[in-house]
Amino acid sequence: MQADINDRLARLRAAIIAAVGAKAAGLIEVSQAIHARPELMFEEHAAAALLAGHLEQAGFHVEREICGLATAFRATCGSGSPRIAIMAEYDAIPEIGHGCGHNIIAAAALGAGEALAALGAELPGTIVVFGTPAEEGGNGKQLLAERGAFAGIDAAMMIHPLDGDFAFAGTLAVALAEVEFFGRTAHGSMPERGINALDALLVAFQAFQATKAALPTGRFNAGIITNGGTWVANVPDHTAAQFLLTGRNDEELRQSLDRLEGACKAGATATGARHELRCDWNQRYRAMVVNTVLGHCFADNLRAVRPGWDTPAPGVIPPIGATDMGSVSQLVPSIHPWLAIAPRGTTWHTPESAAAAASDSGHRVVLDGARALALTALDILLRPDLLREAQREFAAPR
Ligand SMILES: [Zn+2]
Repeated sequence: MQADINDRLARLRAAIIAAVGAKAAGLIEVSQAIHARPELMFEEHAAAALLAGHLEQAGFHVEREICGLATAFRATCGSGSPRIAIMAEYDAIPEIGHGCGHNIIAAAALGAGEALAALGAELPGTIVVFGTPAEEGGNGKQLLAERGAFAGIDAAMMIHPLDGDFAFAGTLAVALAEVEFFGRTAHGSMPERGINALDALLVAFQAFQATKAALPTGRFNAGIITNGGTWVANVPDHTAAQFLLTGRNDEELRQSLDRLEGACKAGATATGARHELRCDWNQRYRAMVVNTVLGHCFADNLRAVRPGWDTPAPGVIPPIGATDMGSVSQLVPSIHPWLAIAPRGTTWHTPESAAAAASDSGHRVVLDGARALALTALDILLRPDLLREAQREFAAPR
């Protein structure tokens, strides 16, 4: 019985590797086309249409504009369980273009989907390729999650390009908070008649900066002043700021929010100004919890297609940035491996990382990523023990 499964697995693995090879030129073309036409969050019409069209040709049943999102889609192939989700992202960054390399994520997801669809009736379960818009700030996957897109999914996966190979690095929980201070204006020569909303904000800013020293390493809380007053000759009666709050999990994120609230109260108390603090907790980016069972499976598969490839073990690399895949990872066992397309130290979200996303090493990650994603999906479909183990880890307290 086990020998039968192993024979079948070996045969289907060879078919997947061959299928990605046969599609290689087309996949790189898709990656280049998305790269050449950067579209910002919720406006990725060309990329979504391109990917959905290719998936349809490959035999997927495609539903466009799902969950009220014009540039989201769901492409389904095969039947029955397990149901494995593969995520395509395709939004770009203002002015920089594809400085996060989401064109590579999209093409690798397409390649994995096409290779699995090529197994035809031999595909032992369901593959769902999701087109997920607005990762860069719109929290697209959170919107899809709260609108039920991932109901019935057993495991989810994607790859993300970076300047290093990290199969197990998670991401931070991040929330946006906005603060306003309301004072009273007066002629600048008579400050005692006014209430200075800028002084209040500066006290709050300093008080919040001071709390950073107490944060664990790997966390940052950034802030900018969005309104520091409008007329220098008067006491400012209205100021505003934005803060990006972080934590390794929701609990730490909540602590950051509490500290900001305390800092705002300090500013208000010191000056007599009134403050309003807003944070849409539901729209926070959730921490990405990497499922190490599936992560090891992916790493083994990447090593199989690229001998010598390696990754630090779980727990070695601190959380990297934030991703809306975090929301998915809170629902089902998920992986979000980072794959190197640029030398270590290349700064992300820059023209350098955008160039890497269209380079030969970027193309290589499209193909190796597609192969490793498809092989990992196949492992999950054919080996019930693997999914059970991943689910056990997912259910364990963290
Ligand atoms: Zn990204």
